[in-house]
Amino acid sequence: MLLSTTHLGTYLLSNMMILLLNLIKIPRLQLFYNKFFITIVVNIPTTSVFTDGSKADEHVGFGVIMDDASYSHILSVFCSVYTAEAMAISYALKLISSSQYRKFCIYSDSMSVLQQLEHIENATHPILLNIADTVYYLKNKGCDIVFCWTPSHVGIVGNEKADYVSRTASIPIEHTIPLADIRKSVQHYILNKWQETWDRQVNNKLHRIKPSIVLWPIFPIRGFDVKLTRLRIGHTWYTHIYLLSGDSVPLCTSCNEVQTVDHILTKCPDFNSSRLNFFKTTILDLNDLVGETPHPNLFSFLRDIGFLFGI
Ligand SMILES: [Zn+2]
Repeated sequence: MLLSTTHLGTYLLSNMMILLLNLIKIPRLQLFYNKFFITIVVNIPTTSVFTDGSKADEHVGFGVIMDDASYSHILSVFCSVYTAEAMAISYALKLISSSQYRKFCIYSDSMSVLQQLEHIENATHPILLNIADTVYYLKNKGCDIVFCWTPSHVGIVGNEKADYVSRTASIPIEHTIPLADIRKSVQHYILNKWQETWDRQVNNKLHRIKPSIVLWPIFPIRGFDVKLTRLRIGHTWYTHIYLLSGDSVPLCTSCNEVQTVDHILTKCPDFNSSRLNFFKTTILDLNDLVGETPHPNLFSFLRDIGFLFGI
């Protein structure tokens, strides 16, 4: 039922088992597969060690359940949930190294960590490399260590306990923080600060159209993308050339309103028939036309009203 997979001498459940366990996601099959999973756990003559990592708000922690005892620690807030999952396994190995038993099965719900352990030759994560070294060391000492993926949040007792203690962990532990985690945290912090600054720019024309700083897709044709950007920021040749030429602000000859992108695209009654033709309505908001997904008829409309080459 178990399949040898790596040169480390670690093992993962065979693909068939993982396929079966994936079916646990179907609610009416959960009870059946919970029993099935427990049968596996009971029938494998090893010491079961459940591990879990968690990250929520400002709390990062991991938990390990072994021999009905629980162990948990908090980690730096910079750590990712992936690192927390890896730290849980690393800590489990530390417990194993001082245990009287010889055969262990480490259960983790982190498929990504287990898959990376399976291909440790490609890994760069420092804790995973440490796990690999420790498994190798313990194997040479005569330990038999098996890794097994377990689905999470489906009532498997060991996994539920590990999940609980990881989320409620309160004791710090000295540990290294992977550079990738720090880089991601710094990036997240900078983006948050940028968003906070942008949130205050309520008088900026672009803010109304794009309140979030997340990246928007780029138009495949560069010329259209440039025009779209000018419409979004409200600065076009036609509406702003007066700043360079020294002329007065251009006014709409029909409405006597200042010529703005908003006036031309959504307000000026001169273009209502074109709006009806291309957008099937005359009641429009700039977001409808130049938002994240521009209206498919936008450029046809601009050409029709003679504004396309004034942008
Ligand atoms: Zn007008």
